[in-house]
Amino acid sequence: MIVVSACLAGVECRYNNTSHTIPKIIEMVKTGKAIPICPELLAGLPTPRPPAEQQKGSILSENGTDQTADYLLGSTIALKIALLIHCKKAILKSNSPTCGCGTIYDGTFSGRLITGDGLFTKLLKENGIEVCTEKTV
Ligand code: SF4
Repeated sequence: MIVVSACLAGVECRYNNTSHTIPKIIEMVKTGKAIPICPELLAGLPTPRPPAEQQKGSILSENGTDQTADYLLGSTIALKIALLIHCKKAILKSNSPTCGCGTIYDGTFSGRLITGDGLFTKLLKENGIEVCTEKTV
């Protein structure tokens, strides 16, 4: 089973109440090949919510609130679901502080990218699950 970021499957769960819909990923969900998960909503965060980025290992929202504990909670719950369904691969939303893989925003809220993984991506990789983004499917 494949885990996909819920926002890639058309769910309006991004910080600004939008999705980043990829038709191929919706098709994977509809045909039972993938399950959509949003770690940030699993943490109980609302939509819309202030944008957040990683800064030196912490997750800070644009208004300066440290939300590391929330994002870690949601990512941990999402990992538990992934392990329950014997997930071997995940296709996650690029550049997100939670779902990004390989690159994430640099913490200045200026659109600049740096090398790094989102919190959920890190947990998946630590548990032997392959992660890629919508840009490589
Ligand atoms: Fe999409 Fe992941 Fe952000 Fe949820 S946490 S909105 S699934 S990128």
